[in-house]
Amino acid sequence: MDASYDAVVIGAGPNGLVAANRLADAGWSVLVLESRPHVGGAVHSDRSVDPGFEHDMFSSFYPLAAASPAIRSFGLEDYGLVWRHAPAVLGHPLPDGRWAMLHRDRAVTAELLEEQAAGDGDAWVALCERWQRIGDQLVEALLTPFPPVRATAKGLWRVRSAGGLDLVRMLLTPVADDTLWRFRGDAPRLLLAGSAAHSDIPLDAPGSGLMGVLMTMLGQTVGFPVPEGGSSRLVDALARRLRDHGGEIRCSAPAERVEVESSRVTAVRTADGSRIVVRRAVVAAVVAPILYGRLLADGDLPARVRRGMRRFQLDPGTVKVDWALDDTVAWATAPPYAPGTVHVADSVEELGEANGQISAHLVPARPFLLVGQMTTTDPTRSPPGTEALWAYTHVPQRVHGDAGDDGITGTWDHAECERFADRIQARIEERAPGFSSRIRARRVMGPRELEAADPNLLGGAINGGTSQLHQQLIFRPVPGSGRAETGIRGLYLGSASAHPGGAVHGAPGMNAARAALAHSRWWSRRAR
Ligand SMILES: Cc1cc2nc3c(=O)[nH]c(=O)nc-3n(C[C@H](O)[C@H](O)[C@H](O)COP(=O)(O)OP(=O)(O)OC[C@H]3O[C@@H](n4cnc5c(N)ncnc54)[C@H](O)[C@@H]3O)c2cc1C
Repeated sequence: MDASYDAVVIGAGPNGLVAANRLADAGWSVLVLESRPHVGGAVHSDRSVDPGFEHDMFSSFYPLAAASPAIRSFGLEDYGLVWRHAPAVLGHPLPDGRWAMLHRDRAVTAELLEEQAAGDGDAWVALCERWQRIGDQLVEALLTPFPPVRATAKGLWRVRSAGGLDLVRMLLTPVADDTLWRFRGDAPRLLLAGSAAHSDIPLDAPGSGLMGVLMTMLGQTVGFPVPEGGSSRLVDALARRLRDHGGEIRCSAPAERVEVESSRVTAVRTADGSRIVVRRAVVAAVVAPILYGRLLADGDLPARVRRGMRRFQLDPGTVKVDWALDDTVAWATAPPYAPGTVHVADSVEELGEANGQISAHLVPARPFLLVGQMTTTDPTRSPPGTEALWAYTHVPQRVHGDAGDDGITGTWDHAECERFADRIQARIEERAPGFSSRIRARRVMGPRELEAADPNLLGGAINGGTSQLHQQLIFRPVPGSGRAETGIRGLYLGSASAHPGGAVHGAPGMNAARAALAHSRWWSRRAR
């Protein structure tokens, strides 16, 4: 006989595990199906670079998880999660040897900025004070379904006291716009622009200012924490909690088909031929093209979704390099405090240029690097005196040419990935001469390797679809969305392809679970 559950969750990434936990908390029987042999999706660490080093394969720093009401509500510390912080949150080494630094103590950040340009310390504190008035509400508004009615109602008066329309204008202005900030030096602008570049919103487009402020102010308040022992410890805690509350997880069990009858979800079939009957809901915590393009039969797709998905846009691909280093990174000038996250770009303008090349389908000549000094952040990651380091950067989904000199064509085979990894490495070598001589082992993952390691990362896209305004809010993943509902009764999209998008905060999973619970209550009231 077919097994049956109240809910089946497809995908054991952070969003799937958050959804499953919430449904299990409500007393539902829940089965999570995961295609890979382990839980976690793009939250996974292992020792395959070097047996003495625990490397995060994908994501590493979790400010949004630390700030997320959904994840905080689970008390994961009781399930083994311990957060660790680097001495400083973020550092950006400049060609002349200076560092732009973000320290969790805003007085320290202000002091360091003031040293570089008189007045910038006070301007930074003023920005922090504005954030203090609206930050919580803004994060709540971003992490709840759109439109965020409750958070907006609570937050309106605070927006007024934090500067009203002036503040709204500031958040909507592109981060690269010079008129936006009251800073004299380049350091604060670099911190903001580099943080905005964690998403794929162009630095000269609306939304990048909000992203820059959000990420730097999160860094300023909750920091950029990492789970002690490796990123897997975060999802292990979610999985442990789920099992403790009666949920089941089946790994190496890819879902192959979501069955629908009379516009209502009825069952999920797995690749080994099992059929799991669904009594109440399916939460698909996989990217929209997998749900709408593979798991559902074409005839089951609502017309609006079919039309919208023709124009669905992935975010750019990614190339990531992990290094096991025999020593710490010897930056040309030592930073005043050792940062966990490092940004590498010569200037805001160069960062914008790399962004522009990606938009023009060119492989960036001087890619903007996000770098993680993991042992600096969490000393358990590798032996004392060594460093588990990574860097990643973005590349176009479709490559028309190489803005650099290596003739990269976008096949991203082994040779191309290695050549591009050398370009990445050379950028670090510029800031830390002798870097290459400290390398014990290196792992390169291009778009294909990333997708093979997590089938959700289509073409190496890390955010479940572009974060640009035309695919956000009510346009995510297709126009008319903004919530987890799919137009098929009992089926919810709970991945980063749903509002509010990528990063580890669990909001799409939580929104999907809450929608499933609310609808189920509504249907049972109606049936009475
Ligand atoms: C290189 C990289 C660096 C990143 N850095 C950060 C960071 O530092 N901080 C941060 O907050 N975010 C970061 N992110 C983004 C973040 O990891 C993702 O936004 C987040 O993991 C999305 O969660 P998810 O649950 O929606 O999807 P995923 O984490 O991708 O999980 C989806 C799961 O679904 C499974 N799956 C797919 N198809 C099926 C199927 N048919 N049946 C069953 N299971 C299936 C996959 O195997 C996977 O386990 C990074 C991502 C990458 C790739």
